[in-house]
Amino acid sequence: MSSIIQLLPDHVANQIAAGEVVQRPASVVKELLENAIDAKATDIKLVVKDAGKTLIQVIDNGMGMSVTDARLCFERHATSKIRHAEDLFDLHTKGFRGEALASIAAIAHVELKTKRDQEELGTHIVIEGSKFVAQDAAVLPKGTSFLVKNLFFNIPARRNFLKSDTVEMRHVIDEFQRVALAHPSIYFTLIHNGSEMFNLPPSNYRQRIVNLLGGKTNEKLVPVTEDTEIVKISGFIGKPEFAKKNRNEQFFFVNDRFIKSAYLHHAIMSAYEGLLKEGNQPSYFLYLQVPPNTIDINIHPTKTEIKFDDEQSLYAILRSAVKHSLGQFNVAPVLDFER
Ligand code: ADP
Ligand code: MG
Repeated sequence: MSSIIQLLPDHVANQIAAGEVVQRPASVVKELLENAIDAKATDIKLVVKDAGKTLIQVIDNGMGMSVTDARLCFERHATSKIRHAEDLFDLHTKGFRGEALASIAAIAHVELKTKRDQEELGTHIVIEGSKFVAQDAAVLPKGTSFLVKNLFFNIPARRNFLKSDTVEMRHVIDEFQRVALAHPSIYFTLIHNGSEMFNLPPSNYRQRIVNLLGGKTNEKLVPVTEDTEIVKISGFIGKPEFAKKNRNEQFFFVNDRFIKSAYLHHAIMSAYEGLLKEGNQPSYFLYLQVPPNTIDINIHPTKTEIKFDDEQSLYAILRSAVKHSLGQFNVAPVLDFER
C-alpha cells in the first residue's frame, strides 16, 4: 500500500467535533437557544428532563426552515449566517460555525419540527447518531422545535462523566440565564421535570435582571453608561454593601453575547478598590457594544472567550465608567472596622 491516510467519514468527523462543542446538556441548551435567537424568535421555551440528560427541547416562534434547509442544517459547516471569510469580522449572529446541529445529531437522538410562515406544511425529521431515520411533511405552527434525547447515547464514557442532576441543572440554568439576560425583549420560559422554573415576559434590562434574580436585586443596582468610539457601555453594577462571597452575579455581554474575561473583571475590581470588604465580590451586569470588526469571536468553539483589538482602552473606559457610577450614586466606602 502506497498510502495509509484516509478522509474520515462525516459521522466520525461530526462525533469528533461534538467532543468540542458539546461537553454537557448545558452546551446543547446554549446552542439551541442561540439558534432560536438567530431565527428572530420572540418567544422561546426550554423544556428539560433530568437536567437535560434524558431530554432537552427548545421551541421557538422564529422564521423556521424550508424542507431543504431542515435537512441541510444537520450537515457540518452548513450555515445560513456567513458566506465569506470577511463575514467573520462583521458578525451579527450568535452562530456562524455551522457545527452545532451536526455535532448534536452525531451524539444524540434529535427530532426537528419546523415551519416557515409562508408555507402550508412544515417538516418533521428524526436523526439519530448522524443517521436520518424519518422525514415527513406535517401540520405545524410557525417556528422550530428541536427535541434532543439520550445525549451521548453512543459515547458511554461521556455519559458516565456527567455530574449529578443538581450540578448539570445548575449549568443549564446558567446558560439559560445568560441568554435571557442578553435578550430581555424575548419571552423566555424554562420548564424542568414538568414544573415551571422561570417565566420571563418581555421587558427591559433592569426588569429582566430582577425577574431572574429576585425582587431584592432592584435596590442594589446602580446604572452605568458610557458612549465612546471604541465601546458603548450600559447596564448595572451592584452597590458595594450588597457584595457577596461568590461570583454568581457577574456578567459581561459583548454585542449581546455572554463572555468571560478575567481582564475586564479586573477593571471592575479596580474601580471598586477601597469599597469592598476583603474577599467580597460585587454584582455586575454590563453590556458592551463594540464595532464587530474590532473583536475576534472565533478563538474557541463555545465562543465565551473573545479577543479585543484594543483591550487596554476598553479596560480604562470600563473602569472609569464604573468608578463614575459608584461616585455619582454616593456610594460610601465601607469602613472595615471588623477586621
Ligand atoms: P450556525 O448556528 O453556526 O449556523 P447550527 O448548526 O447551529 O450552525 O445551525 C445550522 C443552520 O440551521 C443555521 O445556520 C440556521 O440556518 C438553521 N437553524 C438552526 N436552528 C434554527 C432555528 N431554531 N430556526 C431556524 N433555523 C435554524
Ligand atoms: Mg448555531
